[in-house]
Order: sequence, then C-alpha cells, then structure tokens
Amino acid sequence: MTTANAIGIDVGGTKVLGGVITEQGEILATSRRDTPREGGRALTQTIADVALELSKDFPVDSIGVSAAGFISSDRQTILATPNIAGWNGVNLDKELTQIIGKRIVLENDANSAAWGEFKFGAGRGRKDLMLLTLGTGVGGGLILDGALFRGAFGIGAELGHIRLIPDGHLCGCGSRGCLEQYASGSALMRHAREAINASPDLARNLLARGDGTLEGLKGQHITEAAREDDSVALAAFNTMANYLGAGIASLCAVIDPSCIVLGGGVIDAGEIFLAPTREAAFRLIPFTGKHPYPDIVPAELGNNAGLVGVADLSRY
Ligand SMILES: [Zn+2]
Repeated sequence: MTTANAIGIDVGGTKVLGGVITEQGEILATSRRDTPREGGRALTQTIADVALELSKDFPVDSIGVSAAGFISSDRQTILATPNIAGWNGVNLDKELTQIIGKRIVLENDANSAAWGEFKFGAGRGRKDLMLLTLGTGVGGGLILDGALFRGAFGIGAELGHIRLIPDGHLCGCGSRGCLEQYASGSALMRHAREAINASPDLARNLLARGDGTLEGLKGQHITEAAREDDSVALAAFNTMANYLGAGIASLCAVIDPSCIVLGGGVIDAGEIFLAPTREAAFRLIPFTGKHPYPDIVPAELGNNAGLVGVADLSRY
C-alpha cells in the first residue's frame, strides 16, 4: 500500500491551517495556529511548526504552502502579498527547508483552491475549470487541459482584476473598476447598503437582523433575509449577480470553460445567488444562444479547498 500522503498548509490573514492529505484528497489530520500579526519570520516559523507537528505522526513525501499574493513561477518566492507584512521577496522554500529539512512548494491561494476543486471537488472528471472565490476580494484560478495555468511569470489568472467598469471604484491593485469591486463578498455589503439607503422603509426588517445599524449588518444577515424573500436583500444579491455575470461572460469569451466553480461565503445563499448569476452570464455572453453554455456550480470543498489543493500540487 502506498503512503503518499502530503501536507498542505493554507496561510490566511487570521489563521494558518495545515492538513495531512491522502492521494484521494482525504484529510487525515489538521493543525491550526493564529497568523502572527508581525508576519515575516514569525509567520515562517508558524508554518514550520504546523508542518513539523503534522509530520510527527504522518510520514509525508511533500509539503505545499498556499498564500494570497503573487508567487514566482519556480514556486519558491513570494513576489508580493497584499496582507502579510515582511514577506515580499522572501524565498520561502529556502527559509522553510532550513527549519523543516524538506523542500516545500508555494502556490497562490486561489490557484490552490482551483486545483483542489478540480481534483476532488466540484470539477471532478472535467478537463478544464474556472474558479472564482467571492470573499474579501475575488480570487481566480484556471485549469486548462488538465493543468494549472500560471501564466508566463506565475501571476496569471487574477480574474478578479479584469476591468468591469471604466473609472469605477478604486481597487487594492491600483486599478479602477475591477470585477472584485463589484462581485466580492465585500461588494455584496456595499450593494446592500445602497439598497437600504434607496428604500429605508423596506430595509427595516433586514437591518433588524443585526443591531439595527448599517455597521451591524453582516453577510449572513443578507443571506438569511433573502431566504425569506426580503426584497432589499434580494436586490443586493441580484445587483452582485448582474456584475458577476457580466464578468463571467467576458471571461468566457477568452477561455470558453466547460465548468465555472464559485466559492466563498456568498455561495451559502445557493440558487438565490446562482440562478441570477447564470441568467446574467448567459444573457451577456457573446453570441448568446448560438453555442453551449458552461455549468456554473458552487464549490464543494469550502475552506479546505486551498490546503487540499496545494498538498496535491506539491506532488508534481
Ligand atoms: Zn483590481
């Protein structure tokens, strides 16, 4: 029997989550630490601690680490990361190998999640897949002809930063009008606030789910209200679905994927969100009605997609 287990470690803004993953994508054990705020070497040590703890009980052949940011095409160096201090330009492979005594492979978090869904989740059995994770921002990942698409410099498939609205909202990437400014979980909150301001009387029920103020409103309140047909909550979802559908239609013109997987907390709303997204995407897709449409489906692996995916990628 083979024991080709691998460790995957997903580095997020608040937590470092590691797992021992089998070749079939099963999680045998997990370990979790808080992300040290100072980042840099403290974070590198935290990742090493997680890897050493997990490898004590499970011999592994390889270790993968996923993080938000641009990763060099040799999968060793963090070129730039938006949320982690002291990591830009760091050769994480070299630093971790010194502590752990094993080579590691680095991958972008959305690329890792796309690979996880492709191998073990919503994209099983497909040849291609386009992933959009709708969270604080919009992460993107592409699998083309069975291979992860990284681009020439390792920084491809930043699908959340295609331009949707000329001179639109300023984006963290320095550009304006990016898809993620209109179709992320954060954008849903903005759409909700705008819908509330437009119809304050209708919005009382929605606001009452939090503490009665705009600030107290959370994404889950919008989902709960939409499930009960609250018109303001539904308007927020429909606005987001229209923007996301427009972005998907443009991406389809370039990529022509058979399967689009949507992830992130917004997906908890299910068909309330997915149905208008499909409707908008298929209405706006070039030459609509004259070709097959891709499937647009929810992610299946949830928060584990990144660590399951990067563990598997570390095998290659
Ligand atoms: Zn952007």
